[in-house]
Amino acid sequence: MVAVLKPETVVRTTCPYCGVGCQINLHIKDRVVYRVSAPYDAPTNHGNLCVKGRFGHEFLWHPDRLKTPLIRRNGQLEEATWDEALDTIAEKFTTIKAESGSDAFAFFASAKCTNEENYVMQKLARQVIGTHNIDHCARL
Ligand code: SF4
Repeated sequence: MVAVLKPETVVRTTCPYCGVGCQINLHIKDRVVYRVSAPYDAPTNHGNLCVKGRFGHEFLWHPDRLKTPLIRRNGQLEEATWDEALDTIAEKFTTIKAESGSDAFAFFASAKCTNEENYVMQKLARQVIGTHNIDHCARL
């Protein structure tokens, strides 16, 4: 006999893995996603999911998952706040741009981001940094 878990909650959302945007149902019990299913009424995927969308959810609670930014200080990675991390990035970007110019940068956008996030990324590259060195991974 197979034990069947009854979810406490089912949350409908969008698969985060690629730009297809399949709709998914997260089956949650004790604050853990233990199963992902696909709603049949979703116009993008009609009840289907690829292997990443269906089974690629265990990273959510993986012990190695980063939960805070890390900054390397004296050769060691140390936990930092988001404000510290963003200030560090801004300082380093400013220094690199002053010393080596805009084309010292290259940006690589992600299929895991929304179109709007990727649009903002190219704005950062072109308008703020001043380079056309930007590409995108269409698939993961
Ligand atoms: S990774 Fe697979 S399930 Fe997720 S949106 Fe892309 S095609 Fe759909």
